[in-house]
Formats: sequence, structure tokens, C-alpha cells
Amino acid sequence: MPIHEKSLIRPENLHVQENIEVEGIDVSGHWSTFIESRVITDYNEALEEEIAALPGGEFIHRCWQCGSCTNSCTVHALNADFNPRYWIYLIRTGMEAELLRDKDIIWQCVSCNKCTYACPRDVVPEAVMKATAHWLELKGHTPKSSSTIFDDIFSEQVIATGKIEDGRTIQRFLKQTGQALRQPWLEEMVKKMLRNLPIGLLTRMGLARVITPKTRGWSGARDAISEYVAEQEEHHRAALGLDELVKMAETELNAGATE
Ligand code: SF4
Ligand code: SF4
Repeated sequence: MPIHEKSLIRPENLHVQENIEVEGIDVSGHWSTFIESRVITDYNEALEEEIAALPGGEFIHRCWQCGSCTNSCTVHALNADFNPRYWIYLIRTGMEAELLRDKDIIWQCVSCNKCTYACPRDVVPEAVMKATAHWLELKGHTPKSSSTIFDDIFSEQVIATGKIEDGRTIQRFLKQTGQALRQPWLEEMVKKMLRNLPIGLLTRMGLARVITPKTRGWSGARDAISEYVAEQEEHHRAALGLDELVKMAETELNAGATE
């Protein structure tokens, strides 16, 4: 399938003659636009399967490239390079190198889900964006995003205690992402809570900051969730061939060291 939008053609593949005349007719400027064919040799034939193996990527095969997701996208309205339809196309055709050119903006999806409501094929493009961002991190193409760091902290706390204590979660998140613990928006939120919440609730919240709240009889659920998480992580590692990639990197390192 060809690329439809001019914005998706890489600038280096667009050629325009500023001064050209053909049989007496001036065809300078955009009239003479020539698009150089792309030559792609490094397909990853497993790319669609790899994304489909991650949570959220399951329905990527349903996409018929209508573009409704991109047309409705909040981030696309601000940055034309953010294009879910195009990335799904690249994934389905195995064009990994092309996809990697946009690796630094894919995580910018704000999870508004407008694309999901617009999609006529129930692809759930929002979830595909999350799966793609997750894939980029697992393959080492991008560092862990703030969103993944938050998810990890949130999940760890729920698995450990069966409860969420917001203050501790936010504090750990700010620390791990290198942000100041005193944030104007946070101070404003706390002030409003102190003004508006009932004293009993505020006391319980204060106590929860000192004594970690736990769900009674949680250990059975914790073990089951931990087992499921470990199974899923193993499945993802296998689907993405991560162990083979690590082995290859180690072999290359060792070969380099003995030269
Ligand atoms: S969920 Fe993400 S991809 Fe979908 S419309 Fe919102 S910003 Fe765009
Ligand atoms: S709206 Fe759905 S079917 Fe249409 S391009 Fe986006 S993901 Fe594909």
C-alpha cells in the first residue's frame, strides 16, 4: 500500500526543480515534484506478531487503514508526525526501521481514546499505541517512559498490599522520574483536600502515610497475581525473542573483547 499523506514522505525523498521548462511550458516548483522510491531491505516479518503478543496489540490485524484514528487523534491535531494509522501500517508490513524513525514520539499518546471510539474495526488503536511504546522499551529502542514507571510503581504497590496509597505512589513516582517532590499542582491539590474533605477521611489518609494499609487475607491473591505476571513476562520475552537478542549481544561483546 502506498503512503497517502505528503507529510509522511521523508524530505530527502522529495525532489523539486526550481527552474525547469518542458516543451516551452514552465513546470518549476511543485509542478515538477518527483518522489524517490523507497528501497527497503530490512523487514522484520515478525513485527505484527510481536506487537500482537503484547497487551493491547491483539487486534492490530483487523486494521483496514481507513485513517479514522489519525483524523480523530488529539496529538495528531498538534503534531502531524503523530500518526497511528501510519504506524499500524508500518507494523503490519514489517517496516521496523521506518517505525523506529518515529520512536521518540509514539509514547506521546495521551490515552484520550478518541481513536478507539472512531475505529470501525475495533482495533483499539489507543491500546496498539501502548503496545508499540512497550515494544520499543522492551527491545531497548527507548528508555522506560514516565508512564511505564508510574504503571510499575502502581502495580508493585497493589501486588504487595492489595491497596493503593496515593501519597506514597506519587512520592515514589516523582523520585524515580527525577522530579522535585514539591510541585505547585500537588500543593494546590493538597490545600483543596484539606479545605473540603471530611476530617475523618483526612485522618485515615494521614494514618495511611505512616502505617501502610493492607488488604486482609491478601497473600493468596498476591501469589496468584505474581504468578500470572511472571507467566506474561515470560510469554512477552519469548514472543519478542529477547533472550536470543541478549545472547547475540553477549557473543558480540565477548568477540570484541578477545580481538
Ligand atoms: S488515544 Fe492516543 S492515539 Fe488515540 S486519539 Fe488519543 S492521543 Fe491519539
Ligand atoms: S480507525 Fe481503525 S481501521 Fe481505521 S486506520 Fe485506524 S486502526 Fe485502522
